[in-house]
Amino acid sequence: MFIEMRNVEFIYGDKTPFEKKALSGVNLTISKGEFIGIIGKTGSGKSTLVQLMNGLLLPQQGDVIVDGINTKDKKRIKEIRKRVGLVFQYPEYQLFEETVYRDIAFGPRNLGFSDKEIERKVKEVCELLEIPESILEKSPFELSGGQKRRVAIAGILAMDPEVLILDEPTAGLDMKGRKRIFNIIERLHREKGKTVILISHNLEDVANLCERVIVLNNGKISFDGPKHEVFENIKLLEKSGLIAPDVLYLQHRLKMRGFKIERFEYKVEKV
Ligand code: ADP
Repeated sequence: MFIEMRNVEFIYGDKTPFEKKALSGVNLTISKGEFIGIIGKTGSGKSTLVQLMNGLLLPQQGDVIVDGINTKDKKRIKEIRKRVGLVFQYPEYQLFEETVYRDIAFGPRNLGFSDKEIERKVKEVCELLEIPESILEKSPFELSGGQKRRVAIAGILAMDPEVLILDEPTAGLDMKGRKRIFNIIERLHREKGKTVILISHNLEDVANLCERVIVLNNGKISFDGPKHEVFENIKLLEKSGLIAPDVLYLQHRLKMRGFKIERFEYKVEKV
């Protein structure tokens, strides 16, 4: 297994008057090559969970182990960050270099790749992310929203992570931009064998893309299993505050995606 969390607890502002427990009793294992969706309402702990996976946050209790390395091992934290790439929400806010090329090259340069390797990596990720060569010398601020988003994701991929974590990667994009990003993510998984972990509030996207789904509720994992089991369990989704008024709409959309749904019991299975 590649990522393992053992009895993890995380508290923001620990031992201050503002302390807030974001996660507790979290146990999970993630194997190479999985495509996992993480769902849960706002504040349920999704972003905290993924930041623990690449050592950006360290648990007060329990351990997070990445390919045998504990994220608390300070000497190896750089290695963990390289191997588990995290794309934040609205990653384009972190673009800051003068040109698109330099922005994409920033990560690999930091990791000590040679100029030649950097050039090769940038070329490779641009092809993957459909970033035309003609924009490489432009300022990232001149790009459209969708292009900026792809450039920001390219910067993470250029470090060649084995696991790619994406926190709401299509937030704020139009339909065309969303489709493009999802196609790219799917190809990364299918063709490049990347392990992908996707946070999304859109259950339809999760149903469409992921194989396994983890549901977070109030800082705890309330379900972890194959996606069809999650969507069969509408009560669990409702309890987790996920679909409230939209059951019928979701049902309809899932049907269109090839799920077989028994109308009154909301039973779902992949045909
Ligand atoms: P989600 O990604 O599901 O919206 P988060 O992991 O962002 O959830 O947040 C989990 C809990 O931790 C929430 O109650 C949130 O208010 C709190 N929280 C998140 N970030 C911070 C922070 N930097 N300082 C204090 N509390 C935080």
